[in-house]
Amino acid sequence: MSNTGTSRGVDLTTASLPRGVQPVRTCVGCRKRANKAELVRIVLAGSELAIDESATAPGRGAYLHPDQACLATATRRRALPRALRARQTVSDEALRAQFARVNVNEQFGSSGMSAR
Ligand SMILES: [Zn+2]
Repeated sequence: MSNTGTSRGVDLTTASLPRGVQPVRTCVGCRKRANKAELVRIVLAGSELAIDESATAPGRGAYLHPDQACLATATRRRALPRALRARQTVSDEALRAQFARVNVNEQFGSSGMSAR
């Protein structure tokens, strides 16, 4: 009876995926969950909606895919003012302009954001 070899390297289970390592947020447009890094943070600057590119602006933030379709859906549902608890009417003109630029780049939100 020399059955002492019980060291089998069984670590291939995917059940032990580290959860919570990457923060997950819900897009207020399509309502899908995505990694925070894949979404853009929207903040209320005065009475205007704007993309918080540094994601460090104080206050409440809403998350959206950098996709005009998600912005359109969120606008139709008034999801952004609601998510940001805006009490007054907010303008999304600046945000639309920012999204128009985002779609050209398509790489917005990638980890390699280089300053101009
Ligand atoms: Zn979305």
